[in-house]
Amino acid sequence: MNRMRRYKDRILGLFSNDIGIDLGTANTLVYVKGRGIVINEPSLVAMNQKTGQIVAVGAQAKEMVGRTPQHIVAVQPVVEGVISDFEVTSEMLAYLINKAQAGHTKLLGPRVCVGVPSGITSVEVRAVRDAARAAGAREVLILEEPMAAAIGIELPVHEPHGSMVVDIGGGTTDIGVISLGGLVNARNARIAGDRFNADIVSHIRNEFKLLIGEKTAEELKIALASVASRSDRVESYARGRDLVSGLPREISLSDQDVRNALGHSIEELVEAVKEVLETTPPELVSDIMQRGMHLVGGGALIRGLPEFLTDSLGVPVNVDPDPLTAVVRGTSVVLDDIDRYREAILTSDDELVPTE
Ligand code: ADP
Ligand code: MG
Repeated sequence: MNRMRRYKDRILGLFSNDIGIDLGTANTLVYVKGRGIVINEPSLVAMNQKTGQIVAVGAQAKEMVGRTPQHIVAVQPVVEGVISDFEVTSEMLAYLINKAQAGHTKLLGPRVCVGVPSGITSVEVRAVRDAARAAGAREVLILEEPMAAAIGIELPVHEPHGSMVVDIGGGTTDIGVISLGGLVNARNARIAGDRFNADIVSHIRNEFKLLIGEKTAEELKIALASVASRSDRVESYARGRDLVSGLPREISLSDQDVRNALGHSIEELVEAVKEVLETTPPELVSDIMQRGMHLVGGGALIRGLPEFLTDSLGVPVNVDPDPLTAVVRGTSVVLDDIDRYREAILTSDDELVPTE
C-alpha cells in the first residue's frame, strides 16, 4: 500500500514543482525540487499604508527601508516567533510560491513544505496552510523549525535517541529536543540576532555617545562578534551621529567592544538552553551529552559561541557548516520522502509543545 502511494507520489511529482520554504524572522529561503535554493531574501514586505497594497517583497523591500515616503512601511511577517500579520504572511507566501515557479509552470499545483516557528498556535498553522493553498499549493506540509533543522542537518530524528537543536535566528532562538520523530521539548527565546544588534546600538550610545543605525550594528556584529577574546585584535569602523554635537562622527571599535555589548544577552541565551536541558527527560539528556547539541541559524556563526556553550553547560556543541540553510534543507528532505516524515508534520489539530 505504502509502495503504491510512493509510486503515485513520484508520478504526480513529474507534473508539479515541490517547494520548500523557510519563513524565518530575518531571512526567507525557498527550495525547488530539482533546482535547489532559488530564493534567499530578507523576510520583509513593504506596504502602502494608505491603500493597504504590497509595494515590494524581500530584497526589494529592504532597499526601501528608510528611503521611502512615510506611508510606505516595512512589515516583517514573522516577529519574535509569531506570525504578526496573516495578510502580510499570505501575500509573502503567494509571492514566493509564484516566484519559485515562474517560467517553470507545470500541470499540477506544487506540494509546499513550510517551516514555521515552534510553538505557533493551531490557528496559525491553519492560516499558513490556507495561505499556501490560496497561492495554488496542491498539498501543504508544515514543520516546526527545530524539527526541520534537525532533519536538514541529518540528525537521526526517527531513533529513540535524544537530539538537540539550537537555532539562533534573527528574532528568536528556537531550542528543541527531538526523539522518535517528534519534538519532545521546545522553547522559543527572544534572544537572537536582532537583540544582539540592539545591544550594540545601546552600548555604543552609552560608551561613545554615538548613535548608530541598526544596519551598522549588524555589520559590526558580523565583522567583530566573538564570545572569547581573539589572539588577533580585530577592528572596524562605525559612523553615526554624535549625541552631543549632533554632527556625524566615526569611531574605531574592537572585538572587545562588541563582546562587552553582547555579554549580557549571551548569558541569557546560555540560561535558556540550560532551562531546556533541565526540563528534558534524563535518558535524552544522556544522549545529548554523548553526541552533543547542534547549533544552526545565523547566530551559530558567532565566533567562540560553541566553545562557550560547551564550557558553560558541559555538553559538547556541534556547528553545522552551513547553518543558515538548515531549515530549508530539512523541508527538501521531507518533500523527497513524505511518508517517512508523517510523524514530524504538523496538522491543525496537533497538540503543540507549549513554549514560554
Ligand atoms: P531567521 O531564521 O530568524 O530568519 P537566520 O537563521 O537567517 O534567522 O539568521 C539571521 C541572523 O543571523 C541575523 O540576525 C544576522 O545578523 C545573523 N548573522 C548572520 N551571519 C552572522 C555572523 N557571521 N555572525 C553573527 N551573526 C550573524
Ligand atoms: Mg530560522
